[in-house]
Amino acid sequence: MIQFQYQRVNLEKAAVSARVKDKNSMFIAGGTNLLDLMKRGIVSPEKLIDISRIPGMAEITAVEGGIRIGALALNTKVAEDKLVLGRQPLLALAINAGASAQIRNMATVGGNMLQRTRCSYFYDKLLPCNKREPGSGCGALDGFNRMHAIFGFSEQCIAVHPSDMSVALTALEATVRVSGPNGSRTIPFGDFHRLPGTKPEVDTNLGNGELITYVELPDSSFNHVHYLKIRDRASYAFALVSVAVALHIENNTIKEARLAMGGVAHKPWRLKEAEASLAGKIASDSSFKQAAKIAMAGAKAFKHNEYKLRMAPNAIVQALKSASGI
Ligand code: SF4
Repeated sequence: MIQFQYQRVNLEKAAVSARVKDKNSMFIAGGTNLLDLMKRGIVSPEKLIDISRIPGMAEITAVEGGIRIGALALNTKVAEDKLVLGRQPLLALAINAGASAQIRNMATVGGNMLQRTRCSYFYDKLLPCNKREPGSGCGALDGFNRMHAIFGFSEQCIAVHPSDMSVALTALEATVRVSGPNGSRTIPFGDFHRLPGTKPEVDTNLGNGELITYVELPDSSFNHVHYLKIRDRASYAFALVSVAVALHIENNTIKEARLAMGGVAHKPWRLKEAEASLAGKIASDSSFKQAAKIAMAGAKAFKHNEYKLRMAPNAIVQALKSASGI
């Protein structure tokens, strides 16, 4: 039995103060990942600060220039929301590709962003893992690394980020609003998660005591979107490779493209060079293959995930075809 204190807070400020006061505390809302981590002894907070009832933090509203989604909005609510479906359907597609219906009914937007890697070494306390226990080594590096990264990894960690929703939010250039002991600030979504470097135990650029309050998606002119997720099972499985595509196409010419991948790096992996290669091009098999080739520059596989070097470019081409309808 793990002993911990429980405190419910009803205000953003109280949540931040409680978190700052107790260094070994954690926020909890849906708890769909955190409770698993606690049961396995991967994390052992002395106090859980329940933020799930803070008023106003679950709302989805139209704001000037975009949509604001509260950090406590449930994944299911977001994926079924009329504003989201009407203006940002890519986000709904990505959310519905993740987890199971039961988990999406409990999981919040903020929690989805903060979920930890599903690297099996991270979840097994008998095995070395720099993310769980800094300095203990990376069991996956020379171990079974079929699910692991092909971009942006370090010798310390080759894990991938598990969220589908975050891949879409990266492609859509969302921003993250956070509240902390020194006030509020806005983080571009692409800078929210971090690469492992020499500190794989740190997943995000959140500061001490900072609480995610909402995410904003800017309005866009994308008229063709698709989220392709390749996984071992049709449901309730993490991505081997996923691709979020948003295109603005006029007269078969791509005016603007956005691409991000999941299952390939420690954070959602934006494909900016590939996007640039598509701008102004005719939507065609050859322009898509060229973009995929550009996207794969610098990819490197490990012993068991070499298949991703073939799967990823094919997934990019297929996602672009599905989005554009060619
Ligand atoms: Fe741990 Fe990262 Fe290595 Fe997995 S890949 S064992 S999470 S350090």
